[in-house]
Amino acid sequence: MHAVKTKKRINLSAVTTAALFVLLILAGLFSGRAGKENTDRPRQDELSADGGGEAAAEETKARVIDPDKPMVALTFDDGPCGEYSPLILDCLEKNNAVATFFEIGCNVAKYPEIDKRAAELGCEIGSHSYYHNVLPGQSQEDIAEDQRLCKEVFENAIGTDPVLIRPPQGSVVKSILNQYEQIFVGWSVDTEDWLYQNVDRTVNKVQQAGNLDGQVILMHSIYQESAQAAEILVPWLIEQGYQLVTVSELFYYHYGITPEKHYYYAYDYFISDGALMLS
Ligand SMILES: [Zn+2]
Repeated sequence: MHAVKTKKRINLSAVTTAALFVLLILAGLFSGRAGKENTDRPRQDELSADGGGEAAAEETKARVIDPDKPMVALTFDDGPCGEYSPLILDCLEKNNAVATFFEIGCNVAKYPEIDKRAAELGCEIGSHSYYHNVLPGQSQEDIAEDQRLCKEVFENAIGTDPVLIRPPQGSVVKSILNQYEQIFVGWSVDTEDWLYQNVDRTVNKVQQAGNLDGQVILMHSIYQESAQAAEILVPWLIEQGYQLVTVSELFYYHYGITPEKHYYYAYDYFISDGALMLS
């Protein structure tokens, strides 16, 4: 089940080298223009503001994941939400960070552009079913219909059916796992943001959770307090030395695996650092 970890530094974006090259040329041009008084390199925002352009923007976006350094996956369920998802995306973009959004299909139908933007920012989009009905107890026909509806809206929004699914309420049984081609993913740190809808409480849950390396944090994108908590937590996690990665990146870079379908990667898996697996 557990492949050997390949520990090497991997550049996420093929454009980085090219972008860096262009950036260096631009930097040369700009410092030449500025004259001898100002030999400082222009900052990214100066380049952009001056029409320095896409190369600078690409350079800002490029993320490099170091498998030897701590990493954590922030996940947001139940969106997309017209009001708060954009705030979470603004926060992630500002901090050059990513998260995974487990979206409800019928919300994706309403706000496809939000998930399109999230995907463009490097975030991962997972499914959270079409109607958010709990899966156990559903007939094969109901599940097939849910899958059909999801495929349609996700393909419309982001061009593909998600690889990951988080079951509503985290609840699934083996017979249902077998009906999906997707990989089931739970969480290991529950902020209970949906329960209390309190910024401080949500922030404290994460800040007091101990070592977050390899963990999956559960939040929701449909509450203002959750978006506000994210605005505190994203820079805090980065300050603590964590790389914010998507769930698929966490599997690949931290756990060194390609997750398998018909399994549920949930609390036990993440808490045991990949040693325990429920199926
Ligand atoms: Zn949910």
